[in-house]
Amino acid sequence: MTRNSSNTRNSSNTMALAPSTANKKEVVCIFGTGDFGRALGQKLIQSGYRVVFGSRSTKLSSLIPAGAEVLSHAEAAQRAAIIIVAVQRQHYSFLLPLAEALQGKVLVDISNNLKIDQYPESNAQHLAQLLPAAKVVKAFNTVSAWALQSGTLDASRQVFVCGDDMEAKRLVMDLVRALGLTPLDQGSLLAAREIENYPLQLFPSWRFPILLSLGLTIFFFLYCLALDVIYPYVYQKKDLSFLIAVSIPNEVCPVLALMLLGLVYVPGVLAAILQLWRGTKYRRFPGWLDRWMLCRKQLGLVALAFASVHVLYTLVTPIRSYVKWRASSQAVSQALSNTTQPLNTTNAWLSDSYLALGILGFFLFVLLGITSLPSVSNSVNWREFRFVQSKLGYLTLVLCTAHTMVYGGKWFLVPSSYKWYLPPIYMLSLIIPCAVLVIKFVLIFPCLDKPLTQIRQGWERNPRYSEPSQYVINKSAV
Ligand code: NAP
Repeated sequence: MTRNSSNTRNSSNTMALAPSTANKKEVVCIFGTGDFGRALGQKLIQSGYRVVFGSRSTKLSSLIPAGAEVLSHAEAAQRAAIIIVAVQRQHYSFLLPLAEALQGKVLVDISNNLKIDQYPESNAQHLAQLLPAAKVVKAFNTVSAWALQSGTLDASRQVFVCGDDMEAKRLVMDLVRALGLTPLDQGSLLAAREIENYPLQLFPSWRFPILLSLGLTIFFFLYCLALDVIYPYVYQKKDLSFLIAVSIPNEVCPVLALMLLGLVYVPGVLAAILQLWRGTKYRRFPGWLDRWMLCRKQLGLVALAFASVHVLYTLVTPIRSYVKWRASSQAVSQALSNTTQPLNTTNAWLSDSYLALGILGFFLFVLLGITSLPSVSNSVNWREFRFVQSKLGYLTLVLCTAHTMVYGGKWFLVPSSYKWYLPPIYMLSLIIPCAVLVIKFVLIFPCLDKPLTQIRQGWERNPRYSEPSQYVINKSAV
């Protein structure tokens, strides 16, 4: 008898939880008639659902989407199998008197917090603790009310879904799909904490590259200001302050582009040295190296941005009045002295080689940037991706380093280039890329490359590190 009645209850629950996409006239209940509740209600009605709001006030206002009903919480809960809780977490206690009505229902927690890890447990877990007989699913918190209302969902089409009850999660994912969004199953309700932190993050992987490039930009700008503007003013009483607008930025941008591109490849060579030194890949890298590895793509894209600005600044060189004045005064002085300076073929070679290396380097740099776009990188296999990012990446570094060397090579040994005993900025920019290229060159020698390849395939030199507690596979370096 007992078994039969429990079966009946289970089957009625299963019926109530029938796939939503099969019957678009299914009723969905939303608790709360605030911004998000109304926006989601409107979208559900447009997608063919019937919407019932559960509210503290059952009066219909003009803000409620046309076609929706507004009932008390208890009445609305009776009408639907899926209940979306569009109420802030701090008010969840209003659900306690509804515990019986919510038994077996799918409760969708959409809430966000004001701070990362604001509470010891996630809002969804808190809801599940308050109502253990309900099936809590986390969803929709990364979609904004404004995006739902205005239909501008291009940037936030993904809806992260997690929950402990598979059937409840499937129903919510069906609902998400029916709204034209893409559900991403994140697993059990434990994932809710991470999902709730997503909307609060502010470009986490961009922070280090942007702060670093900002710091370096300020440093190199002041460095150039001292050498190019202040030095001639102090020693020759020349006012060259106009260089601040184009010349100095056009010195700083390529320097930063080259340095940041070099910094993209530093963690790779450091990881190789560490693995060779330790004789295993099963030991975790230091935290800073791990974090550095994870932001290599962002570092590369910031470097590409600096290189692009350098290209634009260089293109305007012929129309600068300083450059036009210099060319015309040279022509006039040759006319006055009735002389013609012969073409210096060495200089012509240097200048053309410098330009050619820059053009080729920039072309490959753009290619690297394009292949890092998810839509492009998803369409190539791992080997192709590695070929572009590693082999072509190093070729880009070689070309850009050579571009800088050819540009300034002839002044390396000229004492007058060292104003205040400081080297010109392009010399500083060569330190990191040259160091990376030299180490990389050494690492491709068979005596180092062979053991490194073996280590990366799982071979270990020292069995001391084979203890299970020490085993951590570090994928980022593979
Ligand atoms: P809201 O405009 O302030 O609306 C919240 C609704 O909760 C109120 O309209 C009210 O509805 C109900 N409510 C308020 N106090 C209550 C209480 N003491 N007891 C019971 N119900 C109460 O907030 P919202 O922007 O819609 O956000 C609702 C939830 O969605 C929040 O958890 C938020 O984090 C999440 N969310 C919002 C967005 C967004 O873009 N707004 C995006 C993602 C997630 P009634 O007057 O009808 O009872």
